[in-house]
Amino acid sequence: MRCCPGAVASLTYTNMAKVAINLSTGALQQEEVIVGIDLGTTNSLVAYIHPETKKPVAINDLGRGTIVPSVVHFTQNGETIVGNEAKDYLTTDPANTIYSVKRLLGKSYKDLGEHKDYFGYKIIDDDSEGLVKIRLGDKFYSPIELSAEILKELRARAEHALKTPVNRAVITVPAYFNDSQRQATRDAGKLAGLEVLRIVNEPTAASLAYGIGIDPSEEKTIAVYDLGGGTFDISILSLHQGIFEVLSTHGDTYLGGDDMDRAIINYWIEENQLVADTLNQDKNLQQELRLKAEEAKKALSQQQIYTSKVNGTIECGITRHKFEELIAPIVAKTIESCRQAMGDAKRTPEQIDAVIMVGGSTRVPLVYEAVSEFFGKQANNSLNPDEVVALGAAIQADILAGNRKDILLLDVTPLTLGIETMGGLMDSIIPRNSKIPTKAGRQYTTSIDGQVNMKISVYQGERDLVKENRKLAEFDLKGIPAMPAGFPKVDVNFILNADGILKVEAIELRSGVRQEVEVKPQYGLTDEQVEQMLMDSITHARDDVSARMVIEARTTAEQMLYQVERFLEKNGQHLKQEEINLTRENLQKLRDVLPSGDKDQILKAVDNLEEQTSPFAERVMQISIKQAMAGKKIE
Ligand code: ADP
Ligand code: MG
Repeated sequence: MRCCPGAVASLTYTNMAKVAINLSTGALQQEEVIVGIDLGTTNSLVAYIHPETKKPVAINDLGRGTIVPSVVHFTQNGETIVGNEAKDYLTTDPANTIYSVKRLLGKSYKDLGEHKDYFGYKIIDDDSEGLVKIRLGDKFYSPIELSAEILKELRARAEHALKTPVNRAVITVPAYFNDSQRQATRDAGKLAGLEVLRIVNEPTAASLAYGIGIDPSEEKTIAVYDLGGGTFDISILSLHQGIFEVLSTHGDTYLGGDDMDRAIINYWIEENQLVADTLNQDKNLQQELRLKAEEAKKALSQQQIYTSKVNGTIECGITRHKFEELIAPIVAKTIESCRQAMGDAKRTPEQIDAVIMVGGSTRVPLVYEAVSEFFGKQANNSLNPDEVVALGAAIQADILAGNRKDILLLDVTPLTLGIETMGGLMDSIIPRNSKIPTKAGRQYTTSIDGQVNMKISVYQGERDLVKENRKLAEFDLKGIPAMPAGFPKVDVNFILNADGILKVEAIELRSGVRQEVEVKPQYGLTDEQVEQMLMDSITHARDDVSARMVIEARTTAEQMLYQVERFLEKNGQHLKQEEINLTRENLQKLRDVLPSGDKDQILKAVDNLEEQTSPFAERVMQISIKQAMAGKKIE
């Protein structure tokens, strides 16, 4: 892996025991470039602080533009292509072309809910709480690995353009991302060979780019309106003593510029009396119309009228007036979200000091006018709305690097704190570089029916397997009432106080049983040991992720075996003998590949078993509903 030699080299070059962080300030060694990355749903960018001008600049490697579409294509011979070139395959080879992977980061199949059909590629439904996986031919990928491909491309472009190794980054995420999504983003960075110094909220980065929040004495309330390709967010932030607090967020994760493009296409279909059926069959025509619609939309941000043709015959003309009529409902929806967010933040438009526009779609004049009108002041749009998040991330990186002496850095945790989960994996609760004091928690459940004890093992470190990390404490939460697997709800909370003392508590919510322990994570650790632990996590990133994926696949498989076996026991009488036989066969196949340690084979067997048995559950449900109804009639 490319990162490893680079990272190790920088260690030896400078003979650095002090390569990583100043533990008391979180400051980093200064010479090395630290980049800021906007890992977007539609587009991603990387930026850095220009050493002479000291201004943030988005990297435009080889004149290919600053924007890298967040699209990954896997070619027949196993190569990956990222960005504009990959985008071309969205129509010609959708099954091997991944887009919008950010929507899947840190999510389980259950989380996707009604949006399962949105994706043109295959997402595995193992019906579990586990994280989603994507099937490409006979290989299985996690959204973390796919996001890492995008990050690797950004890193390569930065290294190429700046002619220097790039090993450290700040990456942005939406303000509403939960712990699991943030952790997935960190892991993607690690897998791309980057040490992720901090995960920063996108609206916070945008504010920094506008110079808001640089001076710690500022007290402000800011609204950040972000309309991208497929997502919309509004965040209300309060800035107090150099710390951004998210007062509220609102939005729609399936609303953006793509919807405007679709509105234009539908208009053209109507105007040209195109038949939906012919269109549905003609993939090329669809794609051409899509590209034309986006071109028209962008043109209308500047001019009043757009005219063109597709295939020489289809008239593709539209006026700005018509376009605004078409998108009025979309804009109205976003303004409604703004109203909600303001209500949640308990602020009135007069109390907002600045409104910041982020995302390519805020270039649409109607959007700008509607937002400025709602907040009763001109929104800030002087910076490029595509770049503003990446630029802010670069500023945050510069602050963390200690290059801005005027800015006070708070104490941070030098290593991640977490607990052991199934298969000996580390589940991080408080990521490294978190400001202290801090607290965070997560909910767990049991994996076996009738389980009454749960072992909580607390670890410190960056590695994926707990055995490579440092154990801090262990205790049993006893007296969980016997319930079926998955029913108990155990909250594990980590509370780290300003003196660096960690309190870990576990509570089973249904019964109230509770247990806690206190430790001092830094006790007995030297700075050199901390640095070594950080370096190890970078050098072993790829092995760690592979090991994690095998363990996750095995855990998924074990749960699946358990569930299907139980299902056969309980409901076997509703199945045909040949169905039972086939299920047994598939169960055995899965059992056979389990010890192989080959995650793709294991997941393939899980997928096969799942596909074969998924109709059963529904059938049994219907039978029991019928029985229940019949039962009622007799009464
Ligand atoms: P994301 O944050 O979701 O990755 P971006 O902020 O990059 O997305 O926004 C991409 C969207 O911005 C696309 O729908 C694109 O068509 C739209 N866009 C880009 N430039 C313009 C423009 N000049 N006028 C209107 N929309 C634009
Ligand atoms: Mg964005």
